[in-house]
Amino acid sequence: MNPQPIPAGTTLIIRGGKAMLPDGDWHAPPRVDIAIAGTEIAGIATNFAEMTGATDELDARGHLVVPGFINAHYHSHDVLAKGTLEEVPLEAWRLYALPPQYPPRSVEEVHARTLLGALECLRSGITTIQDMLTLYPFEDRHLDAVMGAYEQIGIRVIFSLQYADRKGLETIPYWKEVFPPQMHALLSGAAEPERRLDLLGHFEQTCLRAPPRGRVHWALGPSAPERCSPALMARTMELARRYDLPVYSHIYESRGMALQARLTLPEHDGSLIKRLAAEGALDPRLNLAHSVWLARDEIDLLAESGTGVVLNPQGNLKMKCGIAPIRALQDAGVRIALGCDNCSCSDAQNMFMAMKLFALLAAVSDPIPGPPQTGAALRAATEAGAQGARLGHAIGKIAPGYKADLTLIDMSDPSWSPLNSAVRQLVHIEAGRGVRHVMVDGKVVVRDRQLTTVKEDQIYDEVEKVMPEFRRDFDGISARVKRLQPWLDVAHKRMVTTEMEFDRVYSPF
Ligand SMILES: [Zn+2]
Repeated sequence: MNPQPIPAGTTLIIRGGKAMLPDGDWHAPPRVDIAIAGTEIAGIATNFAEMTGATDELDARGHLVVPGFINAHYHSHDVLAKGTLEEVPLEAWRLYALPPQYPPRSVEEVHARTLLGALECLRSGITTIQDMLTLYPFEDRHLDAVMGAYEQIGIRVIFSLQYADRKGLETIPYWKEVFPPQMHALLSGAAEPERRLDLLGHFEQTCLRAPPRGRVHWALGPSAPERCSPALMARTMELARRYDLPVYSHIYESRGMALQARLTLPEHDGSLIKRLAAEGALDPRLNLAHSVWLARDEIDLLAESGTGVVLNPQGNLKMKCGIAPIRALQDAGVRIALGCDNCSCSDAQNMFMAMKLFALLAAVSDPIPGPPQTGAALRAATEAGAQGARLGHAIGKIAPGYKADLTLIDMSDPSWSPLNSAVRQLVHIEAGRGVRHVMVDGKVVVRDRQLTTVKEDQIYDEVEKVMPEFRRDFDGISARVKRLQPWLDVAHKRMVTTEMEFDRVYSPF
């Protein structure tokens, strides 16, 4: 076939990779050349002509080219707590891991942890993260450190601050009655009311109204409806509509959260989703992380309103929360994205793991065989995350006009030999070992498995410097949680034994 002319403005050609194109065959993807002009994909052809002087080239022969993964639920605040916990149910985990438990952090720590989390994501082929960040107490210099780190490392970020105006203690079943009152001050949630500042107003002034930043897309992060008053949710949705922003929140991760809704929302049939519907908050802009304990009629409300979910199978299993009703969500037509959640509960920022678990848990979420799940897993890890971020026109696909956010996987590896189905081997076999080059916004940020933007050793050094203080505080917090353990156990046992109309946890007998 005659070579095709290189599109005008091309700065880089990715040559000869097998590309997962939106309408292509994902089992046997075609070998193509991809022309990049600046930050965008300019054209795709079987064979572009020889380079001109101004054009760079990346040899992708023997590689699978996939859209950069979109980690649609992530919190950079506890990157340093990876690998610290196991067999801790969600409600107790909050007390170990979440920022309101900790003394104020140093700017150096905030910078180091942000870089480290982004590094792990990039090295795993993730080009976009939704960072739902709790900065507690909020300080502008911490936000500046986060933004500086993201700018330096070159990842794309959909950034939201996590906020709430109801205290965590009020939102967890039985805690208030089980714990002696003198201990109540020790119990907090994912985000606590900010006492000194109107955080949302401050975010609007300093971020939404500020000049745009490259690769930063703003979002809103009401922590969870049970932690936000109707007035705060209404203000959130008004801002979201006015600035056309995506909104990220948590819903029904654990049995305790569904139970709390049953106990506290009789006027909404015990349903947080019905509460959100009554408040006009169900909307295509809204993304609900976890969605493990949704009831059937709640799934229908999400589907009707275009509200999306972000599943986090790694954390949901580790925190003993259960298995989301994946097949029911799919059958209803709910948008499903995927995330890796906190480092202390997932613990890996790795969308290969998330995709594989998604496909496996879809299999056990309905005993009757349904549609193949590997394509659905890849779409959840790419296109659906983009749509939820209101960036479906810009990222998540390999197509002309889309941002050049791409991950190249080296197929000279046993995972890929023999090549029977690219999408099945991507989801069920590849675990991240093959990620060789990663491009964000047309720039190669990982080349030959090494970050190009910041020296990786510098990041590890920054982390080591702040770890003594983090470890000291983590040990202090762990000792405090151990003192609370007898009451935590009583409340947890009541939570998991109170009657519910369905279950999401495996029960052998
Ligand atoms: Zn979360």
